[in-house]
Amino acid sequence: MDSQIPSRPCWVEIRTRSFENNFRFLASVAAPHAELLAIVKANAYGHSLELCAPAAVRAGAQWLGVTSVEEGVAARALCADAQILVISGAFAGEGADVVRHKLTTVAWEPWQLDELENAARAQGAEAGSISVHLEIDTGMSRQGADLDGLTPLLTRFGAGSPLKLDGVMTHLFAADEADGAITQEQLTRLASGLEQVGAAGVHAEWLDVGNSAALLSGQAAAIGGIAAQFGMRVLIRPGLALYGLTPQFDPGFWASEPAALAEAHRRLEPVLSWKTRVVGVRSVPAGAVVGYNGTFVATEPMRLALLAVGYADGLDRRLGNRFSLLVRGQRAPLVGRISMDQAVLDVTEIPGVEAGDEVVVLGTQGDETITAFDHAEVAGTIPWEVFTRIGPRVARIAI
Ligand SMILES: *Cc1c(COP(=O)(O)O)cnc(C)c1O
Repeated sequence: MDSQIPSRPCWVEIRTRSFENNFRFLASVAAPHAELLAIVKANAYGHSLELCAPAAVRAGAQWLGVTSVEEGVAARALCADAQILVISGAFAGEGADVVRHKLTTVAWEPWQLDELENAARAQGAEAGSISVHLEIDTGMSRQGADLDGLTPLLTRFGAGSPLKLDGVMTHLFAADEADGAITQEQLTRLASGLEQVGAAGVHAEWLDVGNSAALLSGQAAAIGGIAAQFGMRVLIRPGLALYGLTPQFDPGFWASEPAALAEAHRRLEPVLSWKTRVVGVRSVPAGAVVGYNGTFVATEPMRLALLAVGYADGLDRRLGNRFSLLVRGQRAPLVGRISMDQAVLDVTEIPGVEAGDEVVVLGTQGDETITAFDHAEVAGTIPWEVFTRIGPRVARIAI
């Protein structure tokens, strides 16, 4: 494995077996009400599509979710038989790749259906051979058709059209919030949308709803109940939980934590570790200033370790002087500003630190662990952004 570590020592290790275990655990939570679509968009949340898409398939995933047609084409090259859902839809000019690579796109605008139809006809596709998931906006106001605008879209799936309505999709935008009232309202709107689909004489096989928070807060049964009324099967779309993080819910959300969530805390395994090495160690006298603009001043004679990681690798600048990384199994504070390609740790209290020592930026070393939630809290963001900002120059290595 060491041979794969780039000569500049800043890399990410991906434990694909943990990703597979997480998929299997989450599938058991969804069953028997729902199946899973593994969200591998944005380079698998920065964990590498190349490593994670095949791992999802090995664990039993039949569906993968990507952002764009470009990612869909990349996923198809890795997973010949998976169903691949392009969740942000196809753009003008992308229909040909959708048809050629047998992608399923989410659609909610007439022009998106035009794009697919034209490409299908150009390639001589048979009637009903191009699968579409029609998104209904049930309250997020992001993407999706309005409930009162479904009819003209539904007429596009008639006999003779190359398009097939394979699924109806919506996104639950507050499954981690309040008392579940918003989600309840969204599901009510969804059911009324499905009535319209049925009334138009169209049948979709899949009802495609919800993220990690929806799954772990126990929504699968409610969604399954709606799907059963319409003879549909449910797909739930976890992302974050597949990568080993349990979503955090509003405090006071639960009278008592549901069993699935308590088990998720025990069973989900982090997939990614981000590491670097000590480049060198120097001793400085009291009064020495560290880094750009001297925002840190040594309060005593100190030992400082230089690291090969900076904000161009995705280490948030807001962590400077406010966060610790792991070396020799202990937490060492980041001192001074984080530079583009480097950062400095105070290792005064940690004996023996020397050039070449492995430093954990995110992950576990000895008894200590740093999570993406820890980074996010100090950087003022969310774990999704921490993961997806790990830069492309940081090698992803399967372990
Ligand atoms: C990203 C995304 C998900 C996954 O969300 P998590 O909170 O990471 O589980 C599910 N559905 C859609 C439409 C998404 O864009």
